[in-house]
Amino acid sequence: MSIPVSAVDQFVEEEGEQVRHMIGIRCFCHGADGQPDPNCKEHEVGGWLFLEERTITGLVTDITQRRELMETGVFEPGDCMFSPLSEDTVSEGDKIIFTWSLPHGQGDPLVRSSQDYDTLYYEAVKSILCYDENKVFYKQDRDFRFEGKKIVWQWTGKSQDGKTPRMFTRYVVKYHAYIEWLVFVPPVTRVSAGEDIGSKVMLRKKHLMERR
Ligand SMILES: [Zn+2]
Repeated sequence: MSIPVSAVDQFVEEEGEQVRHMIGIRCFCHGADGQPDPNCKEHEVGGWLFLEERTITGLVTDITQRRELMETGVFEPGDCMFSPLSEDTVSEGDKIIFTWSLPHGQGDPLVRSSQDYDTLYYEAVKSILCYDENKVFYKQDRDFRFEGKKIVWQWTGKSQDGKTPRMFTRYVVKYHAYIEWLVFVPPVTRVSAGEDIGSKVMLRKKHLMERR
C-alpha cells in the first residue's frame, strides 16, 4: 500500500524544518580536461556554483539512527537524510544550510593574519573554545567577535584587557555554526529495506565532502 503524495507533503509541512537551499551547478570555468580553473574566483567546493537561494521545508533525519542504511557502508556518521516537499527539487550537488546552529565538531585550524579578522569555514554563532599554539585561551566578545564567517580580532571599542594572538600564530576555534551541507545521491537502490526512498536525498557536511 502506498501513501498518497498529498499525505506525505502534509506530514513534511507539519513536521519538517525550514532550511536554506541553493542549486549547485558546475562552474563555467571548467576546461577541456574537465577540471575547474584554480584561479577562478566565482566557484567554491571543487568547482561548484551555488545559485537561487530560497527557503524550503523538509524533514531532516540523522542517518546514524538508521542502522539498515549505515550497514550499506555508503554513509558516514553525521550524514542526514532530507525529504523535501514533492514540489521542490533538491538534487545532487545542491547546498542546504540549516537555519539552526550545531557544533562544528573539529573546529577550524587558523593562522592569525595581518588583517583585523581571519576567515572561518562556516558562519559562526557562538564560541565553544578558542586556543592557540602558545596555550593561550581566548574568549568571545572580550578577545574576538564573530561576524558571519569572520572571527574579528580588532574592532572599535574592544576592551583594553582583550587579547589578540600575534601574527602567524596558529590557533583553533571550535564553535556553534550554521552548518552547510552538500547533497549527494547514494549509489544504493532507491528501495531500502522495503522502503521507497523516493525524493529523499542525502546530506553530508561540506567540510567532510571537501576532504575527499
Ligand atoms: Zn569557476
